[in-house]
Amino acid sequence: MNTSNPTNLYDLAPPRLEQALGAIVSPPFRVKQIEEWMYVRGVDAFDAMTNIPKELRGALAEHYTIAFPEVVERTTPATDGSQKYLFTLRDGNRIEAVYMPMGDRTSVCLSSQAGCAVGCTFCVTGFFGAGRNLSPGEMLGQFFTIQHEHDVPMESMNVVFMGMGEPLLNFENMVTTLDVLYRSIAPKRITVSTSGIIPGIEELAKLPRRPNLAVSINAPDRRRREEIMPITKKYPLEELIASLKKYPSEKGREITIEYVLLAGYNDSHSDALALAKLTHGLRAKVNAIPFNEDPNLPPWMKRPKEGSIDRFVDTLVRNGVQVTVRRSKGRDIAAACGQLRGKSVAKSRATRG
Ligand code: SAH
Ligand code: SF4
Repeated sequence: MNTSNPTNLYDLAPPRLEQALGAIVSPPFRVKQIEEWMYVRGVDAFDAMTNIPKELRGALAEHYTIAFPEVVERTTPATDGSQKYLFTLRDGNRIEAVYMPMGDRTSVCLSSQAGCAVGCTFCVTGFFGAGRNLSPGEMLGQFFTIQHEHDVPMESMNVVFMGMGEPLLNFENMVTTLDVLYRSIAPKRITVSTSGIIPGIEELAKLPRRPNLAVSINAPDRRRREEIMPITKKYPLEELIASLKKYPSEKGREITIEYVLLAGYNDSHSDALALAKLTHGLRAKVNAIPFNEDPNLPPWMKRPKEGSIDRFVDTLVRNGVQVTVRRSKGRDIAAACGQLRGKSVAKSRATRG
């Protein structure tokens, strides 16, 4: 076995994988078979490729690995069935992903970075600070591990990049990951959520096949957005909205505007009116996300009462805005997608027995 640091084949973009395999694998149909084992079945051992001759599996293992991050913890399923997974990476970094069954569909929420440098003040990932980009293999590994463990048919999978990190600051690896996922999941079933990295949105707009776009707006005006999302100083709110207006949208698709509701800060009647105005003219729907409290976050940040959430949503609806609220019985887990921290979840597990 190769004891140095062999390349993980899942880290290669599909054309590079074909090249790499082509150098050791013949005839060419074997390359297709291996691709199928990886991209459709998501296996993480060459020996699982049962229709590939043993010698060839051995030759592959001499040069390469096919490895996923290792699961170190999984929470007990919440009332709605959601489960949070904690993975450890080769360098010791930790990341999280969430399994969310939703009737006849299943969503998985994936991390794109170990940490996040964007530093939004309401976000636990931001609180713990910058990490590093995840490789395609590390993103695909979260996906396939959860898909396998729950034996979810590919055709009922949705994927959302709303875990730890800013996917558009890890653009190249994100595109490779999407290209692999597209082999079995339609682009309209995949959502990439961004804090508003304008150059990344412009690059995304140029892709021949695009995932759904979700943008975390979170405040009705520039002043408040700068306050809670300092990235606004670099990518001003007005310019962000302008870039969304230019964003090409496929038939039947809309941009999702995410809006974290903070009690007494951005959840008033006039804030809802301002948000309706801000998003006017965009093909978009608003996803209102009641703030998840956390001891690491500023104590003034509170989740609004149910009544204020309802009133906020009502005002949006009355003003012609399509809106959904991210509510979940397993709030501690499912709603936590988007405020993941990569710390051990052992504690919450222990308290549940
Ligand atoms: N970096 C990307 C994707 C990860 S964050 C982004 O910012 O969009 C995913 C979502 O979780 C974002 O909409 C973010 O605003 C939201 N979020 C972060 N912290 C939260 C918290 N404490 N409560 C509720 N939502 C939160
Ligand atoms: Fe990063 Fe998104 Fe959290 Fe902001 S909300 S710190 S961009 S993960």
